[in-house]
Amino acid sequence: MPRVLALANQKGGVGKTTTAINLGTALAAIGETVLVVDLDPQGNASTGLGIDRRARRISTYDVLVGEVELRDAVLETAVPRLHIVPSTMDLSGLELELATARDRAFRLRDAIARLNGDTSFRDGNDFPYSYVLIDCPPSLNLITVNAMAAANAILVPLQCEFFALEGLSQLLKTVDQVRTTLNPGLSIHGIVLTMFDARNNLSSQVVDDVRQFMGDKVYETIIPRNVRVSEAPSYGKPVLLYDLKCVGSQAYLRLASEIIQRERTLRRAAAV
Ligand code: ADP
Ligand code: MG
Repeated sequence: MPRVLALANQKGGVGKTTTAINLGTALAAIGETVLVVDLDPQGNASTGLGIDRRARRISTYDVLVGEVELRDAVLETAVPRLHIVPSTMDLSGLELELATARDRAFRLRDAIARLNGDTSFRDGNDFPYSYVLIDCPPSLNLITVNAMAAANAILVPLQCEFFALEGLSQLLKTVDQVRTTLNPGLSIHGIVLTMFDARNNLSSQVVDDVRQFMGDKVYETIIPRNVRVSEAPSYGKPVLLYDLKCVGSQAYLRLASEIIQRERTLRRAAAV
């Protein structure tokens, strides 16, 4: 089975989408097979991975309302081994649409589970992906709850700015609630600090504070603020395809290896 990681933080502009795109690309670059699921009605992950709006005829909305199987919504990207299920604005109506559906929180989980055993992607493989990365919208609504119910673990991007920790306890509380009611296996995979500015004392202060508060849940890798990272989406490219050598690309490659390493440790611990 794949590792399903939800990128969640109810704050907007903290780097969820940028991390979904570039961590996904970095994981694919080191040999993993990755599916990005765009669960934000804004569709920035789809745009950033070069999926034209006209190509989004089937989207996460169609999957979550139950009209389409996930495998039929998957599109290839310019990155080998990286696929995406795009999103459209339709998704913003999901909450009302599913208001009376008893399984409304489990639509994504069940759709991902039905990918299992589908060998149409790669011969002889039970599940077509080793990682599924879910890009959440900036709120703790039914869409995010679907992501948390489907995920093995949550990856929290935190921007290195003054209010970084604000809202984190609310997010952790929601994760706890989902764990007790919908998904007992859910954990926090890690916290990734983003948009770090070495010239700014505040950035370093935030890193210290977050490490103090969250301990070893914080990844060693810190994503620097880097103009190449912010330029890449306007070319419909992950930064690793736009400028592999820039510090942003290198940081996302380090984050990918760190995550794979953490996974190995977890699996080894589970095997004992
Ligand atoms: P979210 O998905 O949490 O709303 P985004 O990933 O869309 O956040 O990032 C918000 C903005 O910050 C975007 O314009 C993005 O290009 C920019 N950004 C994200 N990470 C970086 C970075 N490391 N360096 C520079 N700009 C960044
Ligand atoms: Mg986003």
